[in-house]
Amino acid sequence: MQFSRAASRALRANVVQQASRTGIREFAAATPDMFDYDQTPPNTGGEVENTEPSFVFTPPGKNHLFVPGPCNINERVQRAMMRPGMNHRDPFFAPLAKSVFEDLKYLFKTSSGTPFIFPSSGTGAWEASLSNTLSPGDKVVAYRYGTFSHLWIDQAQRLGLDVTVLETPWGEGADEGRLEKLLKEDVNKEIKAVLVVHNETTTGVTSDIGKVRQAMDNAFHPSLLLVDGVSSIGSCEFKFDDWKVDVAVTGSQKALSLPTGLGLCCASPKALSKMKDAKLPRVFFAFEDMLKTNPAGGFPYTPSIPLLYGLKESLAMLKEEGINNAIARHARFAEGTRRAVQAWGLKLLCKDPRWYSNSLTVIEVPKEVDSGDIVKLAYCKYNLSIGVGLMKVQGKVFRIGHLGDMNEVSLLGAIAGVEMALIDAGVKITPGSGVGAAVKYFQETSKVIPDRELPEVMKYVQP
Ligand code: PLP
Repeated sequence: MQFSRAASRALRANVVQQASRTGIREFAAATPDMFDYDQTPPNTGGEVENTEPSFVFTPPGKNHLFVPGPCNINERVQRAMMRPGMNHRDPFFAPLAKSVFEDLKYLFKTSSGTPFIFPSSGTGAWEASLSNTLSPGDKVVAYRYGTFSHLWIDQAQRLGLDVTVLETPWGEGADEGRLEKLLKEDVNKEIKAVLVVHNETTTGVTSDIGKVRQAMDNAFHPSLLLVDGVSSIGSCEFKFDDWKVDVAVTGSQKALSLPTGLGLCCASPKALSKMKDAKLPRVFFAFEDMLKTNPAGGFPYTPSIPLLYGLKESLAMLKEEGINNAIARHARFAEGTRRAVQAWGLKLLCKDPRWYSNSLTVIEVPKEVDSGDIVKLAYCKYNLSIGVGLMKVQGKVFRIGHLGDMNEVSLLGAIAGVEMALIDAGVKITPGSGVGAAVKYFQETSKVIPDRELPEVMKYVQP
């Protein structure tokens, strides 16, 4: 971790002030030096030279990673990725690639869709979804209710699409009725695609893609349904075939619990049929090029072999757990976290339970508190990483990510850390209240781990 000198000072002032205000004198006294390190290169302009001593300290224990992506990476997956340099043209590669393409269908819940793997992040997969199906000037409709829906709209506009934006309050999800009305009014069927971010990672809101599809069908509208499932696929219910999604997009660093570096798409036969008329420029993200090589287990350019091994292992683990069990696990994590929030007396940004997210919980803080300080306190004092508020809700909310590789006990650790950081920042909550509520819920709802169902354990649990 590197802080510039200015950032170190700001952080130190901030933390010391917070700590003093909340009466934690030892911490206030102990921390000034903690931020005195500055690893920025010497100022070559010659005006100010860095004379402060450098100081590096690795805190014991793990960094507790509870942002909504990147996520914790299981050791099994880490080991699977430990590979020397390998040649993707050697005979081992094609069977690996083919098996990963096949396994991805399980993730997307599809038999008709074609998965694609790009060495990119989710933003690249967004671009693939648009550039392979649409032409400059095409009309598309998109909901905007957070940073990621905003960024996808921005990308669509910069690619030359004509975007009708359905502005939606941040904290709400896709209003299917508005879409249905709009599509019914489009009598000449000029709208070519509907863009929906399934789980808005800024607000902790999961829209109902099944109902969005229903709205499109009610309007008898032929437009494509393009869905960003970056922070939902693998942690929230996602039914590519049943919902007739045309292109679904995700990224490796979310529920798949891999490092960032793979942008994944799944395209329907209808989406692929639009490809030959789609005139948006594409090279790196061209589905056509992938289709020339992928079926035989090849790539049009050099793939990341360690990430493909990681993806294979992550999908193997998902199959072992069962995707529906994984989704149910995430739903329980979310419910336990919401119970903690309720016990603290704080409010969720997402008010309507129909939009509650399995992947993350976004919590409003009292007006007099800057949520960014809570995030900094959690990191600097407890080595706990939680998410800041983004854009419109910066300073007003913080985010607890509970997707990917984790279990009840690790999540309870994060809830405890958040609880302490809240108290540090002067939020009036009762110590133990949130942890207690989550403990109760997890104790009541946890099942014995499938291959550990020992008779002496099973006698304590309800059938
Ligand atoms: N869509 C959603 C819902 C996201 O949460 C993110 C990133 O957090 C993105 C898209 C962009 O993905 P990436 O940062 O991997 O490019």
